[in-house]
Amino acid sequence: MFRRLHVKLTLYMALILMAFLSILAVGIYHFTSSVFELSAKQSMKIAAARPDILNNMQNPFFDFRDNNRFFFNNNTKMKINYIYYDKFFNLAYVKSEDAEIAKAIVEYAVEAFDKKTEIYDKKEIEGVNYRIYTKYVNDNDVVGVIQIFADTTYEKIFLNFLRSVLLIIGTIGMIIMVVISYFFTGKVIQPVKHSWIRQKKFVADASHELRTPLTVIQTNLDAALSDDQGTIKENSIWLNNAYSETKVMGKLIQQLLTLAKIDANKIKLEIQDINLSDIVLITVDNLKIMSDVKNIEVQTEIQDDIYIKGDYDKVRQLVVILLDNSIKYTEKGSIKICLKTEKNKKVLTIEDTGIGIKQEDIKKIFDRFYRVDEARNRQAGGTGLGLSIAKWIVDAHKGTIEIQSTLGKGSIFNVTFN
Ligand code: ADP
Repeated sequence: MFRRLHVKLTLYMALILMAFLSILAVGIYHFTSSVFELSAKQSMKIAAARPDILNNMQNPFFDFRDNNRFFFNNNTKMKINYIYYDKFFNLAYVKSEDAEIAKAIVEYAVEAFDKKTEIYDKKEIEGVNYRIYTKYVNDNDVVGVIQIFADTTYEKIFLNFLRSVLLIIGTIGMIIMVVISYFFTGKVIQPVKHSWIRQKKFVADASHELRTPLTVIQTNLDAALSDDQGTIKENSIWLNNAYSETKVMGKLIQQLLTLAKIDANKIKLEIQDINLSDIVLITVDNLKIMSDVKNIEVQTEIQDDIYIKGDYDKVRQLVVILLDNSIKYTEKGSIKICLKTEKNKKVLTIEDTGIGIKQEDIKKIFDRFYRVDEARNRQAGGTGLGLSIAKWIVDAHKGTIEIQSTLGKGSIFNVTFN
């Protein structure tokens, strides 16, 4: 699917680039040829209006041969040739080698003479392209038609060369651009691909996680229902099992909804000055029942009135996740909760003497659905989603979260806020 998308995107890019390069090449070609055209036309007009030529048009001894070069620019030389018809439209001057050309372009002279006008055109004569400028002259006593023509072979060669160069450069450029765009579209697709794969995995994991408690609930209810003589009390073991699984399911659904909102960027933080010290104390109090049940001693070292800028509910959720984990994954011993200001930063430390985490697992525990020991952690009521939500909350508050842990000895979770 992504391969096809990649190829498609590259093709679209290539098409856009091709269109752009073609317009550029055609533009360069037309601009160059129209510059040639314009300057040649201008030069021919100037050449036709040269006073020495005009003054000598009727001089039978004037040798046009010496004057048939016109320098219209310091560097560029344009060889032009003159033909002159007198006031009776007699061919008064033409070089003998130009006689054939004169015949081929006499139609312009006739028209200019009849209409007393000027004509500019291009014509191919015996395989050679010429630019022809014909002008009826009536300047005091100089009357007649002056015709100027210039061979455009070199210009054509140059334009053909330019066309080939543009074509070659365009083709090579196109190939390079396609390779580059293949590379860049690949880079652009990468995050989309990752999030798509992540999303797919998330849906698969979520359905798997939901199926497990559902199966447990069904099995327990089946057991209770199959005992049609028994009382509710007699079947309380099945009903209690089913009930506690609904709690796991409820927590899971809640966390899935939070993650879905996170992914859709739908969570808006209500940032205000919040008393982190109070949040920690309240959470410790609320979870005391859990630590008491497990006989875990909870020590606190909380500096008063430490304020941070944050979202009250989210920060509370973060503290609940961390404290709940430390109680869940500690069988005996104690938990120490510390909150203090260190170098202008607010540092919350939750240290337990629990099961600990292997070094290679530490990097993975923020991943969604990651549980170090799936069966055991699930039994403890874990969903594998708490820390990924905790990490998002910390990141959203521009804080940091770090873990130090030794397997079998315990873990320290350090959260720092500005
Ligand atoms: P869960 O709901 O399973 O606890 P979390 O995302 O909160 O999910 O944690 C991911 C995993 O990290 C847990 O399943 C557990 O293996 C490990 N873990 C988290 N906190 C601790 C802790 N304090 N001590 C040991 N292991 C922990």
